[in-house]
Amino acid sequence: MISCLILGSGPAGYTAAIYAGRSGLKPVVYEGLQPGGQLTITTEIENYPGFPEGIDANEMMDGLRKQAERFGAEVRTATAVKVDLSQAPYTVWFDDDTQEQCQTLVIATGASAKYLGLTDEKKYQGMGVSACATCDGFFYRKKVVAVVGGGDTACEEATYLAGLAQKVYMIVRKPFLRASKAMQDRVMENPKIEVLFETNTLGLYGENGVEGAHLVHRKGEADERQYDLPIDGFFLAIGHKPNSDLFKPWVKTDETGYIITEGDSPRTGVPGVFAAGDVADPHYRQAITAAASGCKAAIEVERYLKTL
Ligand code: NDP
Repeated sequence: MISCLILGSGPAGYTAAIYAGRSGLKPVVYEGLQPGGQLTITTEIENYPGFPEGIDANEMMDGLRKQAERFGAEVRTATAVKVDLSQAPYTVWFDDDTQEQCQTLVIATGASAKYLGLTDEKKYQGMGVSACATCDGFFYRKKVVAVVGGGDTACEEATYLAGLAQKVYMIVRKPFLRASKAMQDRVMENPKIEVLFETNTLGLYGENGVEGAHLVHRKGEADERQYDLPIDGFFLAIGHKPNSDLFKPWVKTDETGYIITEGDSPRTGVPGVFAAGDVADPHYRQAITAAASGCKAAIEVERYLKTL
């Protein structure tokens, strides 16, 4: 029987493992589909406190893993495919045909940024394509970038990028923005942002990184115009999907699928089951906030185990 089972290996999962390990709980971490989490698809992290020169994202995740292992965490390479949280001890099944029982469970399965599904997005990942302006915007100082999407996230990212870049295009498929009025006003009033309505992306081009996007402007069937837009960076802001499907029969989620926890604690309402990091965070989605909630989850695990 595992006393503390952690699903997910991003900053939330590993921070939970570090704290649980230091409490002598011998936590077991399952890495999941994307070992190291979403950070591993970015390049350098410059906004994590304590690294004045920035740190390579993979180096940071390696460090977190080693730190967790140093305190007795066991890291396993498998992905949960089914859970039964109807009664403790809880059962989790994995894609390597194993199953485990646990007294406590930390759900730190993260969220995945949505992509358009273009092959060029994969081709230029980390070479001009990003789904996180806060993470990668700094590398586009005085450059020209495009943000795809017309929601609050897209407007927020475009406004953030406008503080750094020379010019920001927003590529919006509808003739209007979906974002709140305040965010729309901020975008429309910013002289560096130009919104391209009724526009879709067909592909990207460039020799050693993104140099531009193939776009199509459509105003009904009859009026269609394809053109190339020179850009240095292509940012996706069309929403995130929290990786919470497995847990939905037992824990509360909002309409997008983010796990709803009690107040600002990581408690899910199922005794001994906690949610940490992006899977329960529709608002901030930063490495530092994920790490902090992983810490809280481990402290809750320790307290819960003492009550048994
Ligand atoms: P939303 O779902 O609100 O918006 C997604 C945007 O992406 C829409 O404009 C949508 O277009 C567009 N889109 C989706 N799929 C595609 C596609 N395949 N091709 C082109 N465009 C696409 O997601 P957000 O992440 O912006 O926001 C999520 C939630 O978080 C919202 O409730 C939002 O209000 C909230 N939020 C609040 C913030 C704040 O208050 N400061 C900041 C950020 C988010 P279409 O409109 O045509 O569907």
